[in-house]
Amino acid sequence: MKKPESQTKPRHLLWLRADLRSTDNTALLAACSDKAAEVACVYAITPAQWTKHDVAGVRVDFELRSLSALKTTLEALNIPLLLLHSPDFDSLPAEMAKLASQHDITTVFANRQYEINEVARDEKTAAALAKADIDLQLFHDQCIVPPGKVLKPDGTAYSVFTPFKRNWQTVAGPLSRPQPAPSRRQSAFTKSDSIPAVISNHSSHVDAGVALEWWPAGEEVALQRLADFVRDDLAHYKDRRDFPAQAGVSRLSPYLAIGALSARQCLNAALNHQASYQRRHHESPGHDQWIAELAWRDFYKHVLVAWPRVCRHRPFRLETEPVPWRHDEKDFLAWCEGRTGFPIVDAAMRQLQKTGWMHNRLRMVVAMFLTKDLFIDWRWGEKFFMQHLIDGDLSANNGGWQWSASTGNDAAPYFRIFNPASQSRKFDAEGHFIREYVPELRDLPSRDIHEPHAKGQASLFSVYPAPIVDHGLARERVLQSFKGLKGLQITE
Ligand SMILES: Cc1cc2nc3c(=O)[nH]c(=O)nc-3n(C[C@H](O)[C@H](O)[C@H](O)COP(=O)(O)OP(=O)(O)OC[C@H]3O[C@@H](n4cnc5c(N)ncnc54)[C@H](O)[C@@H]3O)c2cc1C
Repeated sequence: MKKPESQTKPRHLLWLRADLRSTDNTALLAACSDKAAEVACVYAITPAQWTKHDVAGVRVDFELRSLSALKTTLEALNIPLLLLHSPDFDSLPAEMAKLASQHDITTVFANRQYEINEVARDEKTAAALAKADIDLQLFHDQCIVPPGKVLKPDGTAYSVFTPFKRNWQTVAGPLSRPQPAPSRRQSAFTKSDSIPAVISNHSSHVDAGVALEWWPAGEEVALQRLADFVRDDLAHYKDRRDFPAQAGVSRLSPYLAIGALSARQCLNAALNHQASYQRRHHESPGHDQWIAELAWRDFYKHVLVAWPRVCRHRPFRLETEPVPWRHDEKDFLAWCEGRTGFPIVDAAMRQLQKTGWMHNRLRMVVAMFLTKDLFIDWRWGEKFFMQHLIDGDLSANNGGWQWSASTGNDAAPYFRIFNPASQSRKFDAEGHFIREYVPELRDLPSRDIHEPHAKGQASLFSVYPAPIVDHGLARERVLQSFKGLKGLQITE
């Protein structure tokens, strides 16, 4: 399609997806690299797709609030923010081409997403844009090291984390230098759309006040949180990260999931702080451990690209496919609602219900409990997490669930089964976390709070449920089921 004679400046469109920020945004910088170009951003509201992908209402709310903050930042750069309403990925390619044509766009820029439906969407959008003579340029931006760039000597992807991390570390540092926001555009070809406060059928399960207190939106907030964490907590991360009642972790995952913050910005901040810290202390285990968590984030995305079956609800270890997982709705509901009679599990599930987030140690505890103690299909847990997590992310969530279910790459061996009461005594010894989220147990002494029914106090049964499963028997059931798999060969 020919551009109108009157239009002398190239017009570019930056399609925002999981990168809701103006700084260190590879595709945005590329769109703005031509100083004369006029640039607008577009974000697609795709409610039917969100339902298909189990996107949590709390995450939608966070994205909308983040978009509002981003709109202000972008407008100061003379970059308007448009919204494209399109129900799902089927309708999106044609809608995007229509919008781009209407505005006489030369090139659409975007940062890559790696999940299979997102990749297919981009291919179809590229084809639809090409028909209108518009180019789609895609960039690697989500990971610190792009998928496919950390490989074994034989050129294949790593399925085990430790050697992946060793190799990753040799290339990650130099790639972590964040880029600034682009310079202000001279002019803009359109005006911003207004950002809705809510999308119907996608409202948040989290109280608005709690969401604002826990998860204030915007990249400025994200960068400030990062700076505060690095200054105050990073050095102690290794010692404190497993204790949910302590402020030992960064709580940056929601910002990373929607891209209000880049993983490069995180790594860069950690490395800078580590350099000065090491000069004084000669070692920095907290820094090393936190950087390893950023490597886990990259790792699971690399795994998803190398083994896309994990996007299709299939186990990584195909020989675990016949595990006879239970599909017991009553037990599942008790887990979802934090009524299992295991205080640490219930407290964790109620944290998720109340805040849209859960501490990592507890994610492992509740996932292990669902899959091993209740022997319920890990896919049920994975889906429930996606529907309730503000940081829901297919690769990390799938990786975490398959680790817990012993079906994943580098997963917990099937015979390593957490005992919920022991986990509770170890990581919430005084019961502070349990008391916060399970107030019915608030008055119990610390020694009793982890297994409140062990002493058979009749008065407790009216306020707090008895354990819904016998851990010892459940353990045997898992061991038998997994042992039965030995020797099974399943081909893809
Ligand atoms: C069953 C299960 C489900 C999970 N689902 C998700 C999910 O949907 N989204 C998500 O972001 N994380 C998920 N995780 C990983 C981890 O629990 C969270 O990233 C972490 O709790 C977020 O808190 P934080 O920001 O304080 O992390 P920090 O401890 O401060 O770590 C910094 C960052 O590193 C990354 N990270 C840390 N641990 C992991 C990990 N194990 N895998 C991948 N990345 C990691 C996150 O981006 C995190 O924000 C899951 C883990 C399990 C066991």
